[in-house]
Amino acid sequence: MSKQSMRDETERLVKEALERKTVTIKQGQTRIETKCGKCGAPNRVSAAPGQTRVAYTCKECGEKQRTL
Ligand SMILES: [Zn+2]
Repeated sequence: MSKQSMRDETERLVKEALERKTVTIKQGQTRIETKCGKCGAPNRVSAAPGQTRVAYTCKECGEKQRTL
């Protein structure tokens, strides 16, 4: 396989991956910034659109809770 055809192949694969991504992309995932109710550490939680109370586990102390 020549370098040129290898490059073409790579480009094709990247293009395909991008096209696939646009189809399966998750729409409107939002990030909620919240503070742990136990230790006060800031946590970033990804949530589905319209969801405000999302269960998460504090990355600092491991406390399971919900965002407000
Ligand atoms: Zn915590």
